[in-house]
Amino acid sequence: MQDNIFLKIIRKEIPADIVYEDAELLAFRDIHPLAPVHILVIPKKPIESITTMEPEDALIVGKMFLVARDIARDLNISEKGYKLLIRVGHDGGQEVPHLHLHLLGGARLTENIHPI
Ligand code: AMP
Repeated sequence: MQDNIFLKIIRKEIPADIVYEDAELLAFRDIHPLAPVHILVIPKKPIESITTMEPEDALIVGKMFLVARDIARDLNISEKGYKLLIRVGHDGGQEVPHLHLHLLGGARLTENIHPI
């Protein structure tokens, strides 16, 4: 797997506004937020996307959702709700080839899903 911006953030080679970290996962604020709360939850393991994840990655991917849920609770957006989004590959709009879960909230969000 080639190097990418998220691997550099994991290695602390470039800065990020980190909101959660443990041995397996990192969560930080998106640099171009699409909502008042926009956090990215990523595995430290270099998993490129849902397409390339292995069955053994299922626990870590499940944990990404638990961490996103806990961050939403800590940022007080749980009650009103939020959106969790994973883009997969070119047609899914994935720009960074390292699996990431978007946590979006703090406002009522539109769907805005349509072919380009
Ligand atoms: P995606 O389009 O699903 O691959 O999302 C990639 C996300 O990474 C976009 O929302 C970008 O704004 C975000 N992003 C790219 N570079 C950085 C960075 N250095 N720090 C934080 N977020 C970033």
